[in-house]
Amino acid sequence: MKRMEVLLPRPFDRGFDYLVPQGMDIAVGDYVRVPFGSKPMIGVVWGEATSDVPAQKCKNISEHFDHLPPMSDAMRRFIDWTAAYTLAPRGMVLKMTMPQAEGVMQPQLQTLLCWNADAPVPSQPKRAAVAQWLVEHGAATREDVKRETGASDAIIRAMVLANMIEVISQVAAPSVQHFGDHHAPKLNESQQLASANLRETIGQGFSVTLMDGVTGSGKTEVYFDWIEQQLNNLAASNVVSGIPSFPQRRESLSPLVQSVTEIPASGASAFAGMTQQKMPQADSQILVMLPEIALTNQWVQRFEKRFGAAAVVWHSTITPAQRRQQWQAIANGSARVVVGARSSLYLPYKKLVGIVVDEEHEPSYKQEDGVSYQARDMAVVRAKLENIPIILATATPSIETMRNVQLGKYQRVTLGERFARPEGVALELIDLRIDKPEKGEWLSPTLKRAMKEVLEQGAQVLLFLNRKGYAPLVLCRHCGYRFECPNCSAWMVQYKQSPRLQCHHCHTSMKMPDACPACQEPDQLVACGPGVERIDEEVRALFPTCNVRCVSGDDTDVQDTLNAMIDGRADIIIGTQLLAKGHHFPKLALVGVVDADLGLAGGDLRACERTYQLLHQLAGRAGREVAAGRAMLQTVQPDHPVMQALKAADRDGFLAAEMSQREQAGWPPYGRLAALLLDGANEQRVQQAARHLVQQAPRINGLRVLGPAPAPLSRLKNQYRFRILIKTPLDFALQKTLREWLARVPMPSGVRLKVDIDPYQFL
Ligand code: ADP
Ligand code: ZN
Repeated sequence: MKRMEVLLPRPFDRGFDYLVPQGMDIAVGDYVRVPFGSKPMIGVVWGEATSDVPAQKCKNISEHFDHLPPMSDAMRRFIDWTAAYTLAPRGMVLKMTMPQAEGVMQPQLQTLLCWNADAPVPSQPKRAAVAQWLVEHGAATREDVKRETGASDAIIRAMVLANMIEVISQVAAPSVQHFGDHHAPKLNESQQLASANLRETIGQGFSVTLMDGVTGSGKTEVYFDWIEQQLNNLAASNVVSGIPSFPQRRESLSPLVQSVTEIPASGASAFAGMTQQKMPQADSQILVMLPEIALTNQWVQRFEKRFGAAAVVWHSTITPAQRRQQWQAIANGSARVVVGARSSLYLPYKKLVGIVVDEEHEPSYKQEDGVSYQARDMAVVRAKLENIPIILATATPSIETMRNVQLGKYQRVTLGERFARPEGVALELIDLRIDKPEKGEWLSPTLKRAMKEVLEQGAQVLLFLNRKGYAPLVLCRHCGYRFECPNCSAWMVQYKQSPRLQCHHCHTSMKMPDACPACQEPDQLVACGPGVERIDEEVRALFPTCNVRCVSGDDTDVQDTLNAMIDGRADIIIGTQLLAKGHHFPKLALVGVVDADLGLAGGDLRACERTYQLLHQLAGRAGREVAAGRAMLQTVQPDHPVMQALKAADRDGFLAAEMSQREQAGWPPYGRLAALLLDGANEQRVQQAARHLVQQAPRINGLRVLGPAPAPLSRLKNQYRFRILIKTPLDFALQKTLREWLARVPMPSGVRLKVDIDPYQFL
């Protein structure tokens, strides 16, 4: 009997061997169910069996999900590649590709009506019409029958009861997403140039292009054009089979060709006489990655307006039925354009032809839990393996990307001026040491004045502070007691809306007491420092007639608040990180940053880069359509290079300075980093394990092992944490060295080890 290796979504790097039962047609890439331990499990056939386990010890493959196309070669290689790079077991990477496998793999059934050939032809005219149509068209959905024959539900029911119509259930054919009427704006000169350059990448295999353009320069429009072109080209070359047509001029483009829908969504004829559906030829799929799922709504609306159909939105909070439908549409190629956050990269697209990573600089592309990977970098890898072009779009390229441009690995397309407002944003620094807020307030007189002016003109204000809640710390004025999380080395954050103290790391929450728990003095507890809720309080007192909204990321009505800003119902929006990302608020005229220095405090290697990107992006929200935009940054270090670069709008100067510092210090992208994080409930044990690991480090030229040191967040959810940082030159075989080293030093029980290649977080 034939044997195959089946990879399972479990923490194993290798698959297990299974026998292929007689009559089952199994090939590499197929989705199968196999017995594993006491339970059945879904996996993917990874290759011919290689182990020498005796045949009688092998179990049979129990089910082949043959309604799904096999996982593509490129996808399997991508899983292998990711596992090798991140040091995660292959099985855990596979797991990311099939979330809730049991649910998503089940065939989608469809109920169809068909004519019973043994039944006599009815004489009643309405029934006769139904009979004739069904004979001609074969099985069809109830909706089709009703629409095409004008029959009522009652007639159909009667015919079913009379055994004239049979009701059958079968695997639904995928309905290929197609795009209808659409509206493409006329691109301006700079956009046309960018677009022409991007079009060159289509059908030319692997390439990476940085689309570098200030916020509002129309990058989205340009990559929409690229998407349209991709879909058009491939559709056209498919329709006129053998004669690929690549229309060069915009005017000559047909509307997105609809005939790619080989099996129409509700077409009955395609089902006639078929028991097993054939997959439609998927000709092309495009993935657009956004950093944050909160951003997709506006994007999706825009896409729909532009393309006449919605993109498939992949995110984790959809219903199981939707997930199944979308996952299958992605796997069988009927989903043509998919948008999602980082997890959308690990879906088994049948045939990707292009990837866009929007806001490529965003730190949230780094996945920290489970398999830790940088989705932007992995998207480039995927493009390479699929041999397709990828676009990285941003107004503030990451240093990694800039380095690749310098090295000639990525090409760069620039977009000139702002589409909506060429003048750009006037950026001012407010020196908080001189321009001091009133006691107990956080907004300087200058910022308040500017807010007043803008609001009087009927425009909107955005205030940014990257701190949730009311105050980041509460202490007792009498004895100095500070509220610390019982499980983490972190202060409890005060929330005012529903009065409580909460830990941001483990979400432990407690009621705010009246008296100090240490000295029992009543009324001595004071809030230290501001969170967004406290700014909200200050702003409401200042502008009592304005509609003020506050978002902090964990609110459920974030979307509603964003909409209120978009359609002008809100006057002032106050919020955290969430507001920096790609939103388009047409009436926003002033952006105020309450504490511009906040991000510089942590001091990790990307602190300056991130602060620059964040503040630059925030400033870019202002003045997109209304009067000239202004941005005001409150700082106590106006001479800091980041603040000076922002003020001078000298992005490239800042990047150059930052890059030369990194180069001197050998930090990424001029050197390689990996972090080892050990944690466990027993502090001593964890520390000992970390020390032992470092003692056992190989002595190789170039390898530097820093630590172990208690992590800055030294206790999290009652787990003690120690960090080791590995630093090497670029040409160092980091993964190989780590793999060998870590294999030699098993962790004692109760201590976990997490490997983070290219770490972005050092907490
Ligand atoms: P970016 O992605 O660079 O931030 P967008 O693509 O969001 O820029 O464009 C900013 C605004 O300008 C959007 O409202 C967009 O619809 C509009 N816009 C961009 N290009 C054009 C164009 N060629 N014609 C009409 N409107 C455009
Ligand atoms: Zn906690």
